[in-house]
Amino acid sequence: MARVRLAHLRRTPGATIAIVSIGVILTVMIVAPMLFSKGASELNVFLANQGPGSHHWLGTDNLGRDILKRLLVATRLSIGLALIATSLSAVFGFALGGGAAVLPQRVRPIALRFIDMMLAFPALLVAIFVGAIIGPGATGATLGVGIAGSFYVARVASTLAISVTNREYVVAARVLGVRRSTLLTRYILANTADSLVVVITATIANAIVFLSALSFLGLGVQSPQIDWGQMLTQGVQQFYLTPVAALAPAIAIALTALSFGFAGDALARLLNPLLWTAGGSERPEPQHAPASSGRQPVPVSLRQLDDEPVLDVSELFVSAPSNGTTVDIVSDVSFSVARGEILGIVGESGSGKTTIANAIAQLIQYPAVAQGTIRLCGSDLSELSSKQRDRLLGTSVATVFQDPLAALNPALRIGTQVTESARFHQGLSRGTAIARAIDLFREVHLPAAEHQIRRYPHELSGGMRQRTTIAMGLMNRPALLIADEPTTALDVTIQAQIMDILQSINRTHGTAMVMISHNLALIGQNCHRILITYAGRIVEELPADDLSDAHHPYTRGLVGSVPDMSQPLNLPLTQIPGSVPDIHARPSGCAFHPRCPLAEPICGSEVPPLLGRNGRRRVACWVANSDLTSSQPR
Ligand code: SF4
Repeated sequence: MARVRLAHLRRTPGATIAIVSIGVILTVMIVAPMLFSKGASELNVFLANQGPGSHHWLGTDNLGRDILKRLLVATRLSIGLALIATSLSAVFGFALGGGAAVLPQRVRPIALRFIDMMLAFPALLVAIFVGAIIGPGATGATLGVGIAGSFYVARVASTLAISVTNREYVVAARVLGVRRSTLLTRYILANTADSLVVVITATIANAIVFLSALSFLGLGVQSPQIDWGQMLTQGVQQFYLTPVAALAPAIAIALTALSFGFAGDALARLLNPLLWTAGGSERPEPQHAPASSGRQPVPVSLRQLDDEPVLDVSELFVSAPSNGTTVDIVSDVSFSVARGEILGIVGESGSGKTTIANAIAQLIQYPAVAQGTIRLCGSDLSELSSKQRDRLLGTSVATVFQDPLAALNPALRIGTQVTESARFHQGLSRGTAIARAIDLFREVHLPAAEHQIRRYPHELSGGMRQRTTIAMGLMNRPALLIADEPTTALDVTIQAQIMDILQSINRTHGTAMVMISHNLALIGQNCHRILITYAGRIVEELPADDLSDAHHPYTRGLVGSVPDMSQPLNLPLTQIPGSVPDIHARPSGCAFHPRCPLAEPICGSEVPPLLGRNGRRRVACWVANSDLTSSQPR
C-alpha cells in the first residue's frame, strides 16, 4: 500500500514541487547555521548598506553584515518556531474543535460559542497578548502564535467533525459501543484529516508571518538570534537605501508559505484513500454469489418463539420542540420482539418507523426526547448507567442501514472497522477478531473473504458493502439486529440475496430482527409479524401470513397498492388518496381520517385505541373495532 501511495504521489504535480522545496528548506535549516553562523554575525560598518555584488550576493545590512548568510541562518529559527507553534495550534485546535463535536448535544453549543468568541479577537492580537504576558522572546512568541492559531484550527475541526458525527458509520459505531476517544481519532480525525492537513499547512504559513510580525514589534526573537521577521524589521528601516534587505526575507516567507501550501495539498491526497487507492470505481458483483430463492416462506412460526422477548417497548413517545411548541414524532408505541422472530415495521415516509428504531438504539438526539420503557434482553435501559447501557447496546444490538457506503468508515480498512467493536467489548486479539470476521464474511457470502480485510469500503460494490455491514453487526453475536431499509439502495437481485442472508442469520443464530421498510411486499415475504405505522402511531399489528386479511383501511390500501402478477395487467393498482400529514399539522382524532374512505364522525375527534383481536392482532380503528367499542358514542 505504501508503494501505491508513493506512486500516486509521483503523479501529483504539486507534490514534486512540495518535496523539492521542503527538502531544500530542511537542508538549509540543518546546514546553514553550521556553515554561515560566523559570517552572518560579522560586523563591518565600512561595508554597511552595500548593494548586491560578487562578495555579498544580496548586499549588506546597516551594520555591514551579509544579508544572504543571515537569511540562510535565520531559516532554522523561523521555520522551527513556526512548526512548533503550528503543532501547538493543531493539537489544541483539534482537541478543542473535535472534542466539542463529540460532546453531548446539550453542552456542545457552549463549547462552539467559546471557540467563536475567541475567533472574534484578531489572531495577531491574541498572539501579542500572550507574547506580552510571557515576555519578549522566542518562547512567548511561539506560545502566543500557537494559541492564536488553535482557535482557527478548532473552528474548522469542529465544523468538519460535526459534519461527520451524524454519518451512519459513526452512528453505527456508537451503537456498537466504540469509545468516544476512538470515535474522535479513528472515525472523526481519520475522515477529516485530508481537509485538516490543508488547514494546518496554511497555519504554518500564517505562523511564519505572525512570528515575523512579533519580531517586527520587538516581541519575538531577540538579538543575537535572528529570524526572518527580525530581518524584515531591520530591512524596512533601510528600505530606501538597500531594498533587498527587506525584500529578501519577505520573499523567503512567501516562498516558504507557498511550499507548505503544496505540501498540504499533497498530504491531503495521501490521507484520502479515495484518491490514492487503485480502481476506486465500483467493482462488479461476483458471479458466484448465491442466487435468491425468490419468495421466501416465513421460516419460524410465532408459536415456536420463546416467551421471553429480546426487546420489549412500552408506551414509547418521542417528541421534539418545533416552532415554539412540542410535536410528537412517535406516540404511544408498544410492541415486543421474541428471540428468533423477525418483526417488520412498515409505513410511508414520515410515519415514524426510523424514529422508533433510533429510540431503541438510543440514538434520539437532543433536543428531541424519548420517553417510555425499552427493555433489552430483560434489562430496562432507563435503569442502567450510561456505561452499562453502552455495553449492553454494543454487545446485544447491531444495526444495518440503508446506504452501506455511508455506514462504513471510508478512512478505515474493512478489517479494522469490522473487528473494532469485538476487540473492544470481548477483548479479542487482532488475529482472533480477523479470523471471526473472515468466517462471518463467508457466512454472508462475501467472496474472497481474506482479501476484503485489507480493502477500503469504496473498493467494494454496493452488495458487498451491505454484506460487510451485516458481518460487522454480527461480530458481537447480537441478540437483536435492526435493519433500517437494508435493501432500498440496492438493485433487485442484490436485494433478494441480502434478504436471504438476513433470513439465514435469523434461522442459524436465532437473532431477533426489527426490519424497517416502506416496501410492504418485502416485509410481508420476509417477516413473521408486521407493525403498520401511520403518523407516529401503530395502526395495526398482524402476522405476515394474515396480511391479505388486514382490518385497518390504511393497511388494506398499502396491500392493494402492491403489484401482484396474478392480477390482470390492465387493472389499475389501488391508490391511497392524499399523503402522510405534516408532523406540524397532524389531524385530530385518527390521523388517517382525511384519507380514509370509511371515516365516521368520531374519527375526526378521537384517537382510536389499539385493541387486541384474536390474541395475535391489534388494530386501531373505530370501524374495524366497532364490535369491541360498541359502547363508545359514535
Ligand atoms: S378510525 Fe376512522 S378514519 Fe381511522 S382508519 Fe378507522 S375508519 Fe378510517
